[in-house]
Amino acid sequence: MTQVAEPQSGSAAATAGRVHHWIGGRAVAGTSGRSGPVYEPATGRLAREVDFASVEEVGTAVAAAKAAFPGWRATSLSKRTDILFRLRNLVDQHRSDIAALLTAEHGKVTSDALGEVARGLENLEFATGVPTLLKGGFSEQVSTGIDVYQIRQPLGVVAGITPFNFPVMVPMWMFANAIACGNTFVLKPSEKDPSASIYIAELLREARVPDGVFNVVHGDKVAVDAILAHPDIRAVSFVGSTPIARYIYETGTRSGKRVQALGGAKNHMIVLPDADIEMAADAAVSAAYGSAGERCMSISVVVAVGDVADPLVSAIKDRLPRIRVGPGTEAGAEMGPLITREHRDRVASYLDKGIEQGAEVVADGRDHPLYKESDGFFLGVSLIDRVTPEMDSYRNEIFGPVLEVVRVKTYDEAVGLVNDNPYGNGTAIFTRDGGAARQFQFEAEAGMVGINVPIPVPVAYYSFGGWKASLFGDLHMYGPEGINFYTRAKVVTSRWPDPGTSMVDLGFPRTR
Ligand code: NAD
Repeated sequence: MTQVAEPQSGSAAATAGRVHHWIGGRAVAGTSGRSGPVYEPATGRLAREVDFASVEEVGTAVAAAKAAFPGWRATSLSKRTDILFRLRNLVDQHRSDIAALLTAEHGKVTSDALGEVARGLENLEFATGVPTLLKGGFSEQVSTGIDVYQIRQPLGVVAGITPFNFPVMVPMWMFANAIACGNTFVLKPSEKDPSASIYIAELLREARVPDGVFNVVHGDKVAVDAILAHPDIRAVSFVGSTPIARYIYETGTRSGKRVQALGGAKNHMIVLPDADIEMAADAAVSAAYGSAGERCMSISVVVAVGDVADPLVSAIKDRLPRIRVGPGTEAGAEMGPLITREHRDRVASYLDKGIEQGAEVVADGRDHPLYKESDGFFLGVSLIDRVTPEMDSYRNEIFGPVLEVVRVKTYDEAVGLVNDNPYGNGTAIFTRDGGAARQFQFEAEAGMVGINVPIPVPVAYYSFGGWKASLFGDLHMYGPEGINFYTRAKVVTSRWPDPGTSMVDLGFPRTR
């Protein structure tokens, strides 16, 4: 059993007045003179500041990663695996501490935070299979005495830029496979909830990941632009909103980097008339309001087909008063606050727009007592019925606890909505009709499809990614496509000396 020491400053990072960078295996105080506020969303309190990196500080982190690369790349697969197993065990043993950091800075309730850690852990477990994942192919005797084989090699220094809504899981989507493949990593986490990344960095050190293999620089656009411009960074993985994803992809690829940039979403859940209404209502409520709707795989639109609409809206409405909104640490709380006051107010503004534009607000989250009385960034659950595609609330990603219902007459109209939407992250269908479900799986233009499953986040041994404006780049994240993203293939054609067959031949190499 791995002996686990308490991370010395993991808890310090959560409580200290300032969150520092992590470079070359240790916390490094920022020198740029710039920083940002980190709030406790449940109380609205300014909890601490986070250092913002300058171009030079990003350069220092990249230099540490570059210096660590030759040694790490040469580290045997079995040693790398040994380290990854240790890291996996450390994260497992510190689930509660990590979840507590997520609840404090993101606001999500404890059960949800533990779920995030569990889904992140799956990626570490997948990465421990790297000796098998990196196996190439071998063809013997492609021509007389000649063999050909393919190997996959790491890229070098790679970077990850991550959003606020999964401060632990999304970095693990990236760095687990990246370092397993022999790359070294620079993480730029969200500046809104940065402490968990430092806690994880300490666990990496504890697991004996060599100094410099994993680095964290905090910051804003200055740090991101420095990453995109740095000549020693070979690849960038990004998860965040669509406008920034597009920017990252265009800027990064222009400077010759490999980029995968996952963007925003507007996930539709189609409910056909034959669906089990109670099951569909449970699923819609869980997937719309879990994590206060701040998930890229949240259901934000229910598409009610035919006469399912009235009973479905009524079943959803019945469930809403029972949802317990409160601070994430409160026993029994099911939905916490939003990330910032500005974001909460932006989300709430869609309710007024919906009313103005003719939709029917069935439940208004601003009626919740915590919205009115708390200094925290709370908003109750909201349900908007009779939404149409031209309304602002439909056209934008709201990213909050607001569920919209669009009523259509036919299955074809429902699929048309999914396929006409600029986003294509996830989508789901609820039905008892296998033929309809199969047809939907065939024609839905989205990267992840659920059949009676509202949040179809793939397990770690598949890959995660949307289509259309939800992903810029060719390869999805984590799983087998993650391994491909973080490696490049080399094909070796080899012949061992056989003087008997050696001759000069200026023709193009042939195999026959
Ligand atoms: P965001 O795009 O605002 O920020 C993401 C990252 O980009 C952060 O690290 C941030 O510091 C950086 N950034 C922000 N503005 C920048 C700028 N102008 N220039 C350069 N860098 C900048 O996203 P967010 O608000 O942190 O996260 C929520 C968004 O992420 C939602 O749109 C959500 O759908 C999306 N998301 C998508 C997925 C997915 O897998 N597709 C997963 C989680 C979140």
